[in-house]
Amino acid sequence: MSSALPPNSTIGILGGGQLGRMLSIAAAQLGFDVCIFTDEPDSPAARVSAKTFVASYHDRAALADFARRVAVVTTEFENVPAETAETLIDAGARVAPNPKALAVAQDRFDEKSFFNTLGIATPPFASIASQADLDAAIATISAPAILKTRRLGYDGRGQIRIKTLDEARGAFAKLGAPGILEGFCAFEREVSIIAARSTNGDVAFYDLCENVHAGGILSRTTLPAQVNADTETRARDAARRVLEALNYIGVLTIEFFVMPNAALVANEMAPRVHNSGHWTIEGALTSQFEQHIRAVAGWPLGPTTRIADIEMLNLIGGDADDWPTLAADPAAHLHLYGKRDARSGRKMGHVTKLVRP
Ligand code: AMP
Repeated sequence: MSSALPPNSTIGILGGGQLGRMLSIAAAQLGFDVCIFTDEPDSPAARVSAKTFVASYHDRAALADFARRVAVVTTEFENVPAETAETLIDAGARVAPNPKALAVAQDRFDEKSFFNTLGIATPPFASIASQADLDAAIATISAPAILKTRRLGYDGRGQIRIKTLDEARGAFAKLGAPGILEGFCAFEREVSIIAARSTNGDVAFYDLCENVHAGGILSRTTLPAQVNADTETRARDAARRVLEALNYIGVLTIEFFVMPNAALVANEMAPRVHNSGHWTIEGALTSQFEQHIRAVAGWPLGPTTRIADIEMLNLIGGDADDWPTLAADPAAHLHLYGKRDARSGRKMGHVTKLVRP
């Protein structure tokens, strides 16, 4: 990308969920308009954006029209079909992050292989296309392990923990091919690093986030993470390698397991803003959402300094029904995503609490 987009330019976002909504709010603050492209009518992001296309991600005519109306296209989810990104580029759109970054993050096997090529440790893993692959992988990786779908898994969906070969075969029958078998990591804690890279190659990092998941879904993020400075340096170093190898523009997140010997083991990356970075709205000088918009618009990155100790709690399913109590708590910054229906396991909002030292 050559020059900085001036205010009043239109930024296109693929996806209409809460990440798109918070990106859109941040873009508006910098004087941009946002145009959302989503296949979901009445989406959380559409309701705070200047314009929305509701169409299939395979609708070439709608994508070409969208591409003509926006100065740059970014995304709030990694599972953008490869064909969608190609259609947008063919129609002349600038797409950031680039399609290679999206492709790597879409496939758990490719993602872990990519980490390994950069010298970033992962759990032991094997691609599973057949029961013979599964039997061989169990023999080398050994149980306990986790069988996951290679593609389209999120928030703990598309994965089954297994303790025996029989359980592994049952899990494979349920999930189907292509899969990935991963050794189970008895980690001490989970952390994530949120990093950003600008069009001129500057890189910025937020402080390491410590995350607790329940049923595969993020439930709580706290800062500072209870790790030593060296662990934080290694996480930053890994993120820098990933950003540079992909010639990445925008915010990127990597989730790690911290092992009892302090080793960092990469679980996955998200080529986008991330739930574990929601605290940055109130807790950092520049939010991850503003940072992403700055990067894809070719603007300089903002300062990432954290201003307080943090606790961020996700409001999942019926948790958001408690909004009157949360709204009355002066310590709680309440965010609700405007989703119409609170299905169980659905992220409905979050609360950030700042403890100033
Ligand atoms: P994922 O969808 O891969 O991010 O997994 C969701 C959550 O499941 C992670 O945040 C971990 O808590 C747990 N998990 C996933 N993979 C592993 C693994 N190989 N070993 C231990 N726990 C895991």
